[in-house]
Amino acid sequence: MAKKQFKSESKRLLDLMINSIYTHKEIFLRELISNASDAIDKLCFISLTDDKVGLSREDFKIQITADKDNRVLTVEDNGIGMDKDDLDKNLGTIASSGSYRFKQEMEKTDDVDIIGQFGVGFYSAFMVAEKVEVYTKKYGCDTAYVWTSEGADGYTIKECDKSAPGTVIKLYIKPDAENENYSEFLEQYRISELIKKYSDYIRYPIMMDMTRSKVKEDTKDSDKPEYETVTETETLNSMVPIWQRPKKDVTDEEYEKFYHDKFMAFDKPARIITTSVEGVVTYKALLYIPSKTPFDYYTKEYKKGLQLYSSGVLIMENCEELLPEHFRFVKGVVDSQDFSLNISREVLQHDHQLKTVASTLEKKIKNELASMLKKDRETYESFFTEFGRQLKYGIVSDYGMHKDNLKDLLMFYSSAGEKLTTLSEYVDRMREDQKYIYFAAGESAQSISKLPQAEMVLSNGYEILYCTQEIDEFTLQTLQNYSDKEFKSVDSDDLGIETEAQNDENTESVDSALKFVRDALGDRVSEVIASKKLVSHPVCMTAKGSISFEMEKYFNAVQPESGMKAERCLELNMNHPAVQKMSELIGTDDEKAKKYAEIFYNQALLIAGLPIDDPSGYADIVSSIM
Ligand code: ADP
Repeated sequence: MAKKQFKSESKRLLDLMINSIYTHKEIFLRELISNASDAIDKLCFISLTDDKVGLSREDFKIQITADKDNRVLTVEDNGIGMDKDDLDKNLGTIASSGSYRFKQEMEKTDDVDIIGQFGVGFYSAFMVAEKVEVYTKKYGCDTAYVWTSEGADGYTIKECDKSAPGTVIKLYIKPDAENENYSEFLEQYRISELIKKYSDYIRYPIMMDMTRSKVKEDTKDSDKPEYETVTETETLNSMVPIWQRPKKDVTDEEYEKFYHDKFMAFDKPARIITTSVEGVVTYKALLYIPSKTPFDYYTKEYKKGLQLYSSGVLIMENCEELLPEHFRFVKGVVDSQDFSLNISREVLQHDHQLKTVASTLEKKIKNELASMLKKDRETYESFFTEFGRQLKYGIVSDYGMHKDNLKDLLMFYSSAGEKLTTLSEYVDRMREDQKYIYFAAGESAQSISKLPQAEMVLSNGYEILYCTQEIDEFTLQTLQNYSDKEFKSVDSDDLGIETEAQNDENTESVDSALKFVRDALGDRVSEVIASKKLVSHPVCMTAKGSISFEMEKYFNAVQPESGMKAERCLELNMNHPAVQKMSELIGTDDEKAKKYAEIFYNQALLIAGLPIDDPSGYADIVSSIM
């Protein structure tokens, strides 16, 4: 029988496992049990509607056997099983994203302790076993197969005898070596300890024959009780799902461990929310607000949703309907006896009860975030740095229908200081004569603070919100106002700031200067105006209309074919000596005045962070003037 090769990705991971010097090798058992439990979930779900399965909820179990003499540890389940294709696909390749990520991390770092942070899956068996056999039969298939591998040199798949569906995994435990005790994984006490530690909440019984020394029944009351060794099958896990246990009986560590195991997360959750509701719909929920963005969060791999259980039976892995898009980072479970077990996805979408649960959970999450912002600012700020973008997307999506719900959770950088600020804090700081909430967009707080058009606002002592993410301006445009104060871009013509009246005598010469520049630049600009907002700088470029420069940059980066272009308005500071010099040249040396116009235009582009049309031409003009 020819050996098949592992996919190269898997091979590398396997090598890491086989040669692992990791001290917590024990986690292999958790991984195998969790796979077994998932496989049972699948068959248990089918059994709800398919009598042919012939098993009811109570019949599902995971059986562990330790054969010390032959050094074989067996993990057996009566779940869905695998066919030949599944074996090839699932055990020949890195299946889980956790394993893949683990492999990537391992290649970057020498810190092997990171292993505990990942669901490393089936291959972790090779940390303790020199050979692994997987006997399996898929529900509904006639043939059973055995998959065998001794590690990185490949695996074989053969037919075998197995009557009932399910999977038996045999681990041929490695011999003990210097500093390495593998025999402990064949000791019943060690195994039962590991199950308590890692797999207690598994909802199917994990059973093992336990041999204990007991007092003989008939000598119980005598002065000299006699002992005998009895072997009995025991259920080692308590099976009560963590969300069913009263909050006071569960430690933070247990909640965190569940989060890590169940959701392949490795951060410390920023908040853990438990809730138990009795009413129109009765349910319990356990939710986690992560503190770090999952590595796949912005990929299509990331699945939004909560796990939905009906009286302890998993009916949906990712019930998307339970979470609004703007809280898609939340992880957790909802368990309700009120949901029918064989509810289909289509029915769920319109399910009234589900909508009720979803809307209560949304409120709950929102309140939790609001209280975090109020009472634990530091944690909230770091949460917001990770997920703020998602909340802003929430504001701009669905025609702004969530804006009232989310606006108080927003934070921005501003000219008021280094720290993030909320909109309500901004309004509290507003000066009495201040009409608007000002904002400006740019790449960084530093670059925005230096924008010429920000100068007038800042010099009047007004604060500016810094829009440094591409979504920020859309967010403010969607909000329109906050606490009755309108948002105003510093690019706007009307900043609501009183300026000294322009000298009327000059209007004619100003007009002709503006027209001259306009003609010199042609349709590269849509307007040339005398600026009301420039103080010390000669020029700036502002965007007319609803598309800003930041939007232009963003769309051209993500969608170059969109050809999105903001209308360019060149603003001149008519009081600036350089601009005055140009005005003087008009009529006497038009060629030179044109060069000035060119330079102003290009400077304005540079300040706005926009590409200039002809860099070497610009350099030549500057040199010629110099
Ligand atoms: P993960 O469980 O994270 O997807 P694993 O490497 O642990 O990754 O397992 C790979 C796949 O192999 C699983 O997704 C599952 O489809 C299959 N598998 C593993 N163990 C079992 C089992 N006991 N019964 C049925 N399928 C299994």
